[in-house]
Amino acid sequence: MRMSQVVAPTLREDPKEAEVVSHKLMLRGGYIRKLAAGVYTFLPLGFRVLSKVANIIREEMNRAGAQEVLMPTLLPAELWRETGRWDIYGKELFRIKDRHDREFCLGPTHEEVITDLARTAIRSYKQLPVNLYQIQTKFRDEIRPRFGLMRGREFMMKDAYSFHTSEESLDKEYKNMYETYCRIFDRLGLKYRVVEADSGLIGGGYSQEFMVLAETGEEEIFHCGSCAYSASRESAGVGEYKLQTSNLKLQNLEEVKTPNMRTVEEVSVFLKIKPSQMIKTLIYETESGAVAALVRGDHAINEAKLKKMLGVEDLRLADAAVIKKVTGAPVGFAGPVGLKGVKIVADNAVELIESGASGANKEDHHIINIAYGRDYKADLSGDIRFAAHEDKCPRCEHGKFEVSRGIEVGHIFKLGTKYSSKMNCVYLDEGNQEKTMIMGCYGIGVGRTAAAAIEQNHDKDGIVWPLPLAPFQLAIVPANISEKEQAEAAEKIYSDCKTAGLDVLLDDREDRLGVKLKDIDLIGIPYKLIIGKALKEGKVELKNRKDGQMELIELDKVSEKLRTLSLWERGAGSAPAGEGGGKPQ
Ligand code: ATP
Ligand code: MG
Repeated sequence: MRMSQVVAPTLREDPKEAEVVSHKLMLRGGYIRKLAAGVYTFLPLGFRVLSKVANIIREEMNRAGAQEVLMPTLLPAELWRETGRWDIYGKELFRIKDRHDREFCLGPTHEEVITDLARTAIRSYKQLPVNLYQIQTKFRDEIRPRFGLMRGREFMMKDAYSFHTSEESLDKEYKNMYETYCRIFDRLGLKYRVVEADSGLIGGGYSQEFMVLAETGEEEIFHCGSCAYSASRESAGVGEYKLQTSNLKLQNLEEVKTPNMRTVEEVSVFLKIKPSQMIKTLIYETESGAVAALVRGDHAINEAKLKKMLGVEDLRLADAAVIKKVTGAPVGFAGPVGLKGVKIVADNAVELIESGASGANKEDHHIINIAYGRDYKADLSGDIRFAAHEDKCPRCEHGKFEVSRGIEVGHIFKLGTKYSSKMNCVYLDEGNQEKTMIMGCYGIGVGRTAAAAIEQNHDKDGIVWPLPLAPFQLAIVPANISEKEQAEAAEKIYSDCKTAGLDVLLDDREDRLGVKLKDIDLIGIPYKLIIGKALKEGKVELKNRKDGQMELIELDKVSEKLRTLSLWERGAGSAPAGEGGGKPQ
């Protein structure tokens, strides 16, 4: 393509609305344009990158034996009601009505649709296992759409769903997808880590996330310093606490007036105790009644863990009216002592507080000297909080966590029968008996992967694309296009490169060389072929964007050189030699 024709309005300055590097550089490089919050147009350069990511994913999914389909975006509410997710999904689901007042949503994920397809299209065990995938636009009304393509409200996802007759068959396909994802992210030239994850709104059993490592990542990754345990912040477990024997003499319970003090900080300062002595008591509502959840004052409750422990799907912080009904007090004065009529769930660390303080279930009052066992008991206890940096690994029980940051680009799940049992998705087994299908599902954010690649690969001048993602692999830049010799040489190489199937850009603009090079560096083209003064000696300059290395090559050796760089005869989507490392980091 000729640069003079490419619609890539580059910007000199960083756009104000962009906080992270990938967003800034995609806007500055003329890759994307914002239409509304979390909604973007892909310009030609942006669409090329998106297509490259999608094509690598497609090639590897096909190689892994999955079959591509395309499901609708407009999804009828009835299907979502069958699984109960119409009510549970909440505000993230874009809901609409048609002219006949029938309810629909814009698909944020497609478990219901694919399960409906499987129950009507698959009858016999002979047709299983099967893995169906699509690369399609998803809609999620995110609370905070931000960081450009990282968290959009309309975004492209590859989602795959597999169906099985046994757990072993699911395990095998899950492993196949794990390996396929490793191949995909290796081919994209990204550094990543696979972590144990929470299953979120998609649910089911075991799941793992693929995190591209970047300091700007939204996610915290907890990995053990001495074993292989690695998990997202949502799912990182906490090693068991050992009760330390102490000589503390227990005092009697005492009620203290704490006027208008509701937060752990206010109360602990006032009572002159450590926040770790406070028993934070949170009242939740669930589909099976209200619950009081207890965590230490310096810990944060993890609702995903709480949900799992309670075995509920719907968990919401109670409003003031419910809190008043349950505790008899306004918000901010709840505590476990004397609390009746609700299930009490305590985090492991709470039971070890020797002399605790909490709300007194009475306005403007707290209680001190609380001892577990003597003054209250939990109905359930376990790990219901976020791991803290100083916690111990739950697997080896002695290693300390190291924390790094990453961007979740992929997520693989063992769903089990979560959807198939609710939707009666059955097949006939060898004995002609109806059996429920067992499922897995596997997602990759296509746009987010492109953005993550920029977070990992950029410098002060702009993007430094890994070769397989670059919109163009090579830019031919004549220093002065109005010099006949240079223009002719540039055209000749350009035409040869195109014939060889290279994604090549000819910078035919009449601007100064410096201006052109700045733009080409900003948009991140991996190689530049500069045709300037050296042409008089029959030579051109080849410059590598990544390390800045420059090489003078003879005109008639250009094709040979490009071949050794794996550019020539290996068009878009070929595996780069030696990038990515072949293994999750
Ligand atoms: P997150 O925790 O970041 O909200 P998620 O867990 O909701 O993501 P999944 O349901 O697992 O995401 O979706 C599969 C993949 O789709 C994610 O791994 C991510 O790469 C991508 N993705 C999810 N939400 C968005 C979004 N709002 N914008 C862009 N990509 C997204
Ligand atoms: Mg996820």
